[in-house]
Amino acid sequence: MTLKVIPSIEALTPYEAGKPLEQLARELGVTDAIKLASNENPYGPSPKVVDALRAAAPDVHRYPDSTGYRLRHRLAERLKVSPEEIVLGNGSNELLELLVRTFCTRESHVVFAEPSFVVYRMASMAQGVPFTAVPLRDQTHDLEALARAVTPATRLVFIANPNNPTGTFVTRARLTRFLEEIPADVIVALDEAYSEYADAEDYPDGLTLRDRRRHLVVLRTFSKIHGLAALRVGYAVAPTAVVQYMNRVRAPFNVSSLAQEAAIAALDDPEHEQRCRAANRAERERVTRALSELGVTVVPSQANFLFIDLGRPARPVYEALLRRGVIVRPFTGLENNLRVTLGTPDENERFLKALAEVSK
Ligand SMILES: *Cc1c(COP(=O)(O)O)cnc(C)c1O
Repeated sequence: MTLKVIPSIEALTPYEAGKPLEQLARELGVTDAIKLASNENPYGPSPKVVDALRAAAPDVHRYPDSTGYRLRHRLAERLKVSPEEIVLGNGSNELLELLVRTFCTRESHVVFAEPSFVVYRMASMAQGVPFTAVPLRDQTHDLEALARAVTPATRLVFIANPNNPTGTFVTRARLTRFLEEIPADVIVALDEAYSEYADAEDYPDGLTLRDRRRHLVVLRTFSKIHGLAALRVGYAVAPTAVVQYMNRVRAPFNVSSLAQEAAIAALDDPEHEQRCRAANRAERERVTRALSELGVTVVPSQANFLFIDLGRPARPVYEALLRRGVIVRPFTGLENNLRVTLGTPDENERFLKALAEVSK
């Protein structure tokens, strides 16, 4: 019997994650490698998180609180929204998928930019939902073109701000205009996985734009600045009605008890977040300058990574960096580009030195 698969899943390719350190050790025998490939926080989680995980470990025989009561209330307090406007996810990744599963059918349509976070495409294809991928303009979301791509069937528009993989952002003025212009029944999902790293004066905090359109969903994650990538926890802030529909579809117990406790502990250590933000900003400026001196084109970044253009095929450079124990991120279809996560100052030095060597 042949396996019957819907065409959009037949066409899907699995998510290409940054290469794990253990895999590089297995494949090339490189054991002292550094990973600058997945936009993780190089400084790790707050020590308070580690304590909270230890304290919670003996209770893992119990199912977690499926409603995430304490974490939602803590977030609500901090973000000045209602707990009923928050839904927790197994990473914000799960929430991106949940949006598609909750609000789209094969008769619907989704809009997002390209290149942007590949999960928007994957989530649409997995459900067989048609989509339009709108090219970036000057490495930034082309909001006018995105608005033009909206059809009467469009249910969802995804916007990553700052964008991954380019690190660029859309300004408050342009985003506000977009939110007010596109049809009222379209859900705009503003993916702010890197918002805590953004410091441009006209970078908009999506939560301050919620009065500009009813169907706005702001997504954030504990995976990036909070350093909890392995635990899988993110959240969406959305109108209560949207949250209620997502809760109908959401799997019970989707966020583990360890993840919930760790996220609460992370919120209890704003100084750690502050230190990580400051260190990232300093390294972002320094590494951008150093790369420019090497003759590499760097897209101005508001995130914890740099999108670089080598002006020649990047795969061989990626491979040569791997052999020197530096894992960065290549992208299929973006032949001259690499995305490099900002690491600690030592890690960044090692990357710069390795890049200079392989560029000789
Ligand atoms: C990393 C990332 C996410 C989600 O990460 P999770 O670990 O699933 O919370 C979402 N959007 C973008 C743009 C990202 O880069």
